[in-house]
Amino acid sequence: ASKAEGQNRLHVFEPGLLLVRRLRSQLLDDLRTAVKGEGLVLHYQPVVELDTGRIEGVEALVRWQHPTRGLIMPDEFIPLAEDAGLISELGLWVLTTAVNQLRRWVDDALVDSSFSVRINISATDLQSLQFIEDVRGVLKETGVRPEQVVLELTEVAIVRGNELDRYSLGGLRGLGVGIEIDDFGTGYSSISYLRRLPVDRVKVDRSLIEGLGTDPSQPPLVAAVLQLVRACGLEAVWEGVETAEQAEHLRNLGCLSAQGYYFSKPVPPEQVPGLLAGTPAQTHSA
Ligand code: C2E
Ligand code: MG
Ligand code: MG
Ligand code: MG
Repeated sequence: ASKAEGQNRLHVFEPGLLLVRRLRSQLLDDLRTAVKGEGLVLHYQPVVELDTGRIEGVEALVRWQHPTRGLIMPDEFIPLAEDAGLISELGLWVLTTAVNQLRRWVDDALVDSSFSVRINISATDLQSLQFIEDVRGVLKETGVRPEQVVLELTEVAIVRGNELDRYSLGGLRGLGVGIEIDDFGTGYSSISYLRRLPVDRVKVDRSLIEGLGTDPSQPPLVAAVLQLVRACGLEAVWEGVETAEQAEHLRNLGCLSAQGYYFSKPVPPEQVPGLLAGTPAQTHSA
């Protein structure tokens, strides 16, 4: 009886469910086309040296230019891509596109060899040995200096940390690319892994600086995080800086680099030269 009841209840909701399912499957079809590179775009957000205002690099952030729905943000379609088994294809597109873009900026002498491009990689990428080969391949193809490519991994991806992940991190590190822990301070933060893992920097999640400039307990917290990160032999990048006060506080606390709307929103690649031109010199003679 309860089964029949269940079926009945399901029946009531069916039109809605079907619609959701149809929308989702339509969206998935679109995404399958998009990850072939048709419709995905990368925007770039500067990472700024707090002392000088110099742009030391950019983070590549993927967007989906959907034919009818407009620009879709990654938080909406990355999970979909994960579920649909499309994340590797997406990751490869992002990697290839970002590194080739860096190549062009270098060729155009817009940036020097200290400039880096940061690329977000998924936990799935990290677990795939193919990904290491892809990184090796694109470095070789473009001839870009490996140090100029920094891979951003979330804590969640890393701390799940089985042997394979550690092996993959080591493999990626072995190629000479930089590794950064993204959204630091939000995941299953265990201090000990910071020392063990082959990473170079952490990017501190914006929730940790939200109250800077308004909440008096915040500066000591930032100072403590900075000290902790440095005690582990790493350096910190601060993300989500939205106000001049936040930037000033971070600078006074001895933080080196930061990123956020205060400096610039993520912009399409054609706007990057303008951003570079508007700040202190990017090109020392290489
Ligand atoms: P994330 O890597 O932590 O990127 C930072 C996010 O914060 C970006 O959102 C950026 O636009 C936003 N942001 C930057 N400055 C500020 C600020 O001052 N205030 C606020 N409120 N937000 C700021 P976005 O572009 O929507 O990306 C969201 C997340 O999607 C990323 O978080 C990353 O985890 C993921 N993602 C983005 N691009 C890729 C990609 O190419 N591959 C993968 N696997 N994931 C990606
Ligand atoms: Mg990131
Ligand atoms: Mg982040
Ligand atoms: Mg994030």
